[in-house]
Amino acid sequence: MPEKKEKFYLTTPIYYTNGLPHIGHTYTTVVADVIRRYKRMRGYDVVMTTGTDEHGVNVERAAKKAGIPESEFVAKMADAWRALWDELGIPADEFIRTTDLKHVRTVQWLFKLCKENGYVYKGHYTGQYCIYDNAFVNDAKPGDNCPDCGRPLETVTEENYFFKLSSFQKPLLDFYKKNPGFIQPETRRNEIISFVEGGLKDLSITRTTIRWGIPVPGEEPHVFYVWFDALTAYLSAVGGPEYEKRGYWPADLHLVGKDIIRFHAVYWPAFLMAAMLPIPKQVWAHGWFLMDAAKMSKSKGNVVLPRPIVNMLGMDALRYFLLRDVVFGQDGNFSYDALVTRYNSDLANGLGNLASRTAALIEKNFAAKIPKPAALKPQDEALARETQAAIGEVLENFDKLSFARALETIWTVIAAADKYLTSEQPWALGNSEAEQSRKATVLWTTAELLRIVTALSFPVLPDSAAKVWTLLGQSVALGKFELDGLRWGQLAPGTALGKSQTLFPRVDKTEAIERIESMANEELNPPKAAPAPAASAPATTGASAAAAAAPAVSDKIGIEDFAKVEMRVGQIKTAERIVGADKLLKLTVDIGTEIRQICAGIAQYYEPESLIGRKVAVVVNLAPRKLRGVESNGMIVAASVGPEGRPVLTGFHEEVEVGARLK
Ligand SMILES: [Zn+2]
Repeated sequence: MPEKKEKFYLTTPIYYTNGLPHIGHTYTTVVADVIRRYKRMRGYDVVMTTGTDEHGVNVERAAKKAGIPESEFVAKMADAWRALWDELGIPADEFIRTTDLKHVRTVQWLFKLCKENGYVYKGHYTGQYCIYDNAFVNDAKPGDNCPDCGRPLETVTEENYFFKLSSFQKPLLDFYKKNPGFIQPETRRNEIISFVEGGLKDLSITRTTIRWGIPVPGEEPHVFYVWFDALTAYLSAVGGPEYEKRGYWPADLHLVGKDIIRFHAVYWPAFLMAAMLPIPKQVWAHGWFLMDAAKMSKSKGNVVLPRPIVNMLGMDALRYFLLRDVVFGQDGNFSYDALVTRYNSDLANGLGNLASRTAALIEKNFAAKIPKPAALKPQDEALARETQAAIGEVLENFDKLSFARALETIWTVIAAADKYLTSEQPWALGNSEAEQSRKATVLWTTAELLRIVTALSFPVLPDSAAKVWTLLGQSVALGKFELDGLRWGQLAPGTALGKSQTLFPRVDKTEAIERIESMANEELNPPKAAPAPAASAPATTGASAAAAAAPAVSDKIGIEDFAKVEMRVGQIKTAERIVGADKLLKLTVDIGTEIRQICAGIAQYYEPESLIGRKVAVVVNLAPRKLRGVESNGMIVAASVGPEGRPVLTGFHEEVEVGARLK
């Protein structure tokens, strides 16, 4: 436990802005957020940085394709990335863009230091160049064709600044030896050491053929090239040249994908050594998420997006899966099947069920107040010991970034609680004094165990753990709770239970996967000119049903246009809520000739049960579409009332036959 708040600085990579985040980026950022929350609960003053890498020829090209200036293109991309992290509840403390002025200044300053210390010189770079794309193609041989446009490449020589990486072979090897924890995991460390032992070539760090980059002062048209620019962002984010004032540099932890470990573990410390600046304490390379054993990539079309999963199962479910199913550092296989299986078994049936069962028993038997335990039996003491021991184990594993192990330990305790309840059967105990006090002991023990596993799982499950915490009547905000003080026995009898909230509703696996895939498909291939699913929900029930087929609501239409809309009397057969879509109800409606499944945006105003048997007007010839991943084949007509557009279903004051046409 640090005396004065010790600082902890960690970073994700600065993501390249030629596309939008998929599950791989989300994984790194989630891990960073888990560490941030955990370190705060251990008393640290934490800063987490993420950001966007906005320079280079790929951005130049993408902006050209979009027909907008580069600055506008990257601003839009940076906004989109930042917005997604906000939406997912994982915003950075520092969001650095490589086009930020403070970053530009830092890169130029670092270059000046390296140059003053004699580690930078002007030389010539010769490579294979595509005149059409204005870019060198790394690793191409003379006579190759451009991988992007297929045109023949030309051998081009340009003037570059070089960084004397070759001078750092020995200093780096010495550094790795003195700081064995610098590169993690071990396999990556060995890989890097043998790479450096093999000899280091000087590194070209500027280009004159790229326009969109940070200028080398007084040396235009030189701009900085890729890594000298991108890596420096970690330092720019916490003060740049004035880093000492803020006190977060050197970074404690750079989280990176294994494909970029070399740049972080070789180039970056070498740049800093050359500038005589402090070197980060650790670089941790994690593996990739594979789908069908292939690295996920947009071009392969096997991209998994975070948003549909979050809509269906919640952010905590995604976080839990990412950290529980893969050993941090290794590659993991991503499958929706495994995701939903984990969700149902560990979250719905595990933590969720334990919390709701415990709360319900305390409500029923002890007027919703934590009971006072009486004489302990050996099985109560055994459970207490197991839980107390788990605290130390979990903290140790979090410290080592062994997230899967930490969660495994927590869930072993949850399983032990389930077993304990099943064998003690507090619900079967009667009202005699002895039985009442046994009941009190069993329920206090379970509630205390629940409190401890909740505090321990907060870094991974921030939303749901906070709900359980409130349910247990705990008043300190869980994010500010200090894990160092967590001990068995602290749950005060008499504490009133708080509000109970739905935690993890169980889902049908096949249906859940279908809906996640369908939402992902909607996001990857947005329908042209059709409204987004969320925005279209109110329109489903709008009074102007005919608007769907008419050019504009206000224009007058001929009777032949109106005749195109086929409306019939339908009778609602079933109605249910849709997990992950709190505005929508899924209805089955008898329209005389068949039963249709229709989604309607009325869930906030109509209880599903109240709708069964009700007759409504249905547009039956609307093309089927998907709303939040659920197929909707038709539209229920409703009036839109008041400023919020409250939907009011149509009705009939006389008997009407199901299937009758409205004219
Ligand atoms: Zn080309």
